[in-house]
Amino acid sequence: MKRLAVLALLLPLAACAPRTPRSPTHGPPPSRVEEPKRTTPLAGWEQRPVRTIVLDAGHGGRDPGTMGGDALIEKEVTLDLARRMRDRLVRWGFRVVMTRDADETIELAERAARADTARGDVFVSLHVNAAPRPERGGIETYLLDASDERHSDAVAARENGVAPEHADELQRTVAQMRVSEVSQRSALLARHVQGAVVRGLRARYGHAEDRGVKKGPFYVLFLSSMPAILVEVGFATNPEDALRLSHPEHLELLADRIASGLMAYAIESGPVVAREKP
Ligand SMILES: [Zn+2]
Repeated sequence: MKRLAVLALLLPLAACAPRTPRSPTHGPPPSRVEEPKRTTPLAGWEQRPVRTIVLDAGHGGRDPGTMGGDALIEKEVTLDLARRMRDRLVRWGFRVVMTRDADETIELAERAARADTARGDVFVSLHVNAAPRPERGGIETYLLDASDERHSDAVAARENGVAPEHADELQRTVAQMRVSEVSQRSALLARHVQGAVVRGLRARYGHAEDRGVKKGPFYVLFLSSMPAILVEVGFATNPEDALRLSHPEHLELLADRIASGLMAYAIESGPVVAREKP
C-alpha cells in the first residue's frame, strides 16, 4: 500500500467528486483526441491477448455520484450497467473482475489497486455525466492525458521504488515510453467503445450525440499496467439522457455496445480467447 500513498501524494487529480459535475466543468478543460494515425504499429507494446477485463462501477456507498432525472442515482446506474456487461463478457469467454459488486464505498486509489492486483488487460470505468446546462447530453469517453509529466514521473518513482525527485533521467525516459504506449492502447480502446456505443444508440433511437474521445485528469485512469478508459454513458442533468438511463432496456443496450467495443479492441489487439462473437 506504500506506493498508493505515494501516488495519492503525487496525483491530487480531480476525479469525479461526489454530487458535483465533473469534467468539463472541473479541472483543466479536456482536449479532444486526434483521429488515429494507423500507419505504424504500436511500437514496443508486447502483443498480449485480452483475457481479463476490469469493470469499475463509478462511486458507491457514501458517494452517490451524480443525481438527476426522476430519482436517478449514478452509483446505482453504474453498478447495474457493470453487472450487465459482466454477464455478456463472461459469456463471450473473458475473465471479468469488478472493483465493486455492491453498494460500497471504495476510494479511487483502491480501485486502481484492485485492477492491478487482478492483473487486468483493460480497465473500464463507468460513469454518468452532469453539466450545468440541461441541454448538454450524449456520450463521451475519456483516457488519461499521457503528456502530463506528473504521470510518467510517478510511474518512474513507483517502478523503481524511489521518491519522484530521486528518479534519474533514464528511469524517467523509460517511464515516459511506458506511459505513452499504454496511452496509445487506451486511445484505441476508447475509439472502439465510443464508436460502438454511438452507433448502437443511433440505430435504436435515430440520434445520439457523439461527444467524442477526450483526455481528462481522472485519477482512476492512472494505471501504467493496462489501457484504461472512463465512459460517461449520458448526462443525468439532460432530461432525455436521464429518462433513457432509468430504463433497463437502455442499460442492456449500453452494456451490449460497450462490451462489443471491448471485443472489437480485443480482436484488433491480438489473439482472442472469447468463444462467441457479439
Ligand atoms: Zn461519476
